Formats: sequence, structure tokens, C-alpha cells
Amino acid sequence: MAERLLIRALRGGKRTKIVTLIGKKIKKMPSTLEKLSGLKTLYLQNNLIPKVCPEIRALTQFQKLKLREFYCEGNPLLRKQPIYAVEKEEIWSLQEIASRLIMNQLAEKDSLLMQAVACYPQIRNLISRRKECAICGKYFLTMWLECVQFVPPSKSWNISRNIEVMPLQILICSYKCFSQRGSDLFGITDV
Ligand SMILES: [Zn+2]
Repeated sequence: MAERLLIRALRGGKRTKIVTLIGKKIKKMPSTLEKLSGLKTLYLQNNLIPKVCPEIRALTQFQKLKLREFYCEGNPLLRKQPIYAVEKEEIWSLQEIASRLIMNQLAEKDSLLMQAVACYPQIRNLISRRKECAICGKYFLTMWLECVQFVPPSKSWNISRNIEVMPLQILICSYKCFSQRGSDLFGITDV
């Protein structure tokens, strides 16, 4: 059944704008879809597509397709199986240490630093890329801990109604803050 729908879509070539393969027990994201250069909307919900890496590679290829809408909820792409990971404390570079000091002093309106930084556009440019810690609210520049929090989608978001939770990227400045996080915040690590 899914094969027949795919063949029909492929026969349409560039003219195929929408492909709907919902609940077809598909176990692999169909890579032949990359041939549909006019594809705008792809529905792959409620299938059995399990592996993240090959699908991400396929998704990269999909970018060439200029997809406007892609629906993949209801597939076992995400395994919610937290594991304990060893905390590997990194040594901050001198630039990171100095940047944090300057950015956080500037946030407190340190007038001497404000005047000094005004003379150095390179520093202004560098610290404009600062990020804010979700726990302590302080700034950091290039070193952080990446976390994820699963939240119910806001009503104002333009997404499918059957999505119950969405992953949100949360950045944290240090293990000190990480140890103070809520139980619904998970660190992301390579395993
Ligand atoms: Zn922090």
C-alpha cells in the first residue's frame, strides 16, 4: 500500500507537492522522496521509523527539497530513556573566564568597564554572542551544558494538535547550575 502511494508520488515527479504516508507501518524514511524536487509537504506520522541517524542524514537531503511542512510525530524516533552520565568538568579557557567576568559586570552596569568596552568593537562583537544560563541567569560565551526540557506546546504555536510534548533546548553555564536543575531537565550527552 505504501509502495503504491510512493510509486504514484514518484510518477508525479516535480509536480508532486504533497506526500501522505500516515500509519503505513513504514520502518525506514523513504529516501526516494529526494527525487521529488517540488515536494512541499510530507506526512509520515504514526509509522515505525526508529533510527535517528539515517533519518537525520535523509532530512539533510530533504533540505534541498525546500520542504515547508514535515510531520513525523508518532514514530519511535526519540527514546525517552535517560541514563546516568559521568560529569566531565571542562576547564574554561582564559577567554571564557574573562568574557564571563566582563559580561556579568556589564550586566551590573559597571561604568568603568562600560567605557572601556565602548572603545573595543571586537570585544563588543564577541560578547554580543553571549548566551544566558537558564538556571542562574548569568552570561557565558562558548562553553555550556546543553540540556533538553519536554514541554506541552503553547496554543499559539502552529503545530499538529496531536503533539503532546515538544523538546526545548536549554543551555546551562556550569555543572554547579546543572546540579540545581529541576527533575524535568535532562543533559544531552554522547553515548
Ligand atoms: Zn548558571
